Order: sequence, then C-alpha cells, then structure tokens
Amino acid sequence: MPRFYLDVSPQGKSIELTGGEAHHLIHVRRIQPGNKVELFDKKGNTYNTEVVQVTRKSVHLEIESHASPDLSYKTNYCLVQGLLKKKSWDLLLQKAMELNLPQLLPALTDHVAGGEYTAGSHERWNKILISAAKQCGRSQLMEIPPCQNFDQVLESTKHFPLRLMAQCEPGIPSLHSLLASQEKPSQLMVFVGPEGGFSEREVTLAKKSDVHLVSLGKNILRAETAALAVIANIEFYYNS
Ligand code: SAH
Repeated sequence: MPRFYLDVSPQGKSIELTGGEAHHLIHVRRIQPGNKVELFDKKGNTYNTEVVQVTRKSVHLEIESHASPDLSYKTNYCLVQGLLKKKSWDLLLQKAMELNLPQLLPALTDHVAGGEYTAGSHERWNKILISAAKQCGRSQLMEIPPCQNFDQVLESTKHFPLRLMAQCEPGIPSLHSLLASQEKPSQLMVFVGPEGGFSEREVTLAKKSDVHLVSLGKNILRAETAALAVIANIEFYYNS
C-alpha cells in the first residue's frame, strides 16, 4: 500500500493532507478517490485510510483503522557520529533508517572533515528520513537531537550503563565479544569517528570516562561503513 507522511497527528477520523506529501500523492503516485493509502506520523503511529477527495493541492482522507507503534522488541541505543561530508552523511541517514537505528546524535569532533551544520540541516535531514521511511516500511522516524561537541556528549551521557567507541587499533576486543561480555544494557551508546577518525585527545578522554574501545575487524572502514556495521551488528545481536 502506498505510504505517506503526516506532519501533524490527526484529531478525529478525517485528514486533510497538504504540502509536499499531497503533491506526491496527487501528481506523482496519481492516487484517486477510493484508493487505500497508509499514513504514518513521526512517532510511528500508522493509519489505514481511504482517499475521499482529491483537489489540485490537497487530499481528504478518512481513517479506517489505526495502529500504535510496536516498540517492545527494540533495544534503546544511540549512535554518536562525528559529522561527515554531506554525501556520506545523507547516505548514512537513509541506510540507518532502513536498519532501524533509534537515535543518531551528530557530534562535532576534533577532526571534523567538512561536515557543515547549519540551521536548515535538521529540516533537510528530516526529508531524507521521511523518504526512507516511505520506502522501507518503518514508521517511527529516527531521532536526531541537535549537534553537540564530543566533550559535551561524553559528559552528558556518563549515566549510560554501556558506552563503546569504534576504533581502528590492534589488540582491542571486537564489538561482538564486548557485547557478549556484558549484560544487555538498558541504554547503549556507540561513538563512531568522522572521516579523519578520533583525535588522540578524544580517545584518551573516552578511555578515562569508561568508554570501551571496540574493533569492527582489521580493515579500515569508511566512517559511514563503520556506522552501518555497528547498527547492523547491534540489530543482529539484540533484535533479531
Ligand atoms: N584515518 C582514520 C580512519 C577513520 S575511519 C584512522 O586511521 O583512524 C572513521 C571511523 O570509523 C573511525 O574513527 C572509527 O570510529 C570507525 N572505524 C573504521 N574502521 C574501523 C574498524 N576496523 N574498527 C573499528 N572502528 C572502525
């Protein structure tokens, strides 16, 4: 069933869809009155609806049934990712949505390599998340809190029972063996560096703050590959 995103959760049984999503429904998917479509909001509520009326710029739909998100299977974890260049960051957003990452925290790190962070970043990122959600069937959007610098994140997440840092370094445990050595944590955080990796200062600071260094194998992965490997492995380990 075609899926469209609802900016505002509906009150009552009828919905008026406008803006970009209405345009997509009317002019790209060419949906007609009588057709069924699924709508979802950012919290992951889904609505099975029937299209009642289509005008040039808006669509009127009636809700037939509603489902709340099933979050029971989820492990609560956050990926802290050093900001990346636009192309890699956008790819990461799309793939992380598909793989079910709950939260992505953008971090300014010492070796930040051209990832520009502006007032409009979140709006642009949200469009990528919505488009990925429509394609992959996931409804709840990944949370992306405002960007923080590395030291702030380290300080404000001291209470997390388990924090890991993916690091290219011989002799450190693999992500898998580290997870296997711990109880399933109520909250988990994983740091992945930007293109230039973490600075020595950041690695030392992380170690002092009880962050465990973990390896993803002996190849040096691009930052976005490393991030996706972390997500896929955590999903496989806890949620499959
Ligand atoms: N030039 C950097 C490489 C950075 S790769 C260096 O030599 O350290 C970007 C980030 O991806 C790294 O900071 C790390 O978090 C992660 N990463 C890449 N390959 C990895 C691996 N094999 N194991 C663990 N983390 C890895």
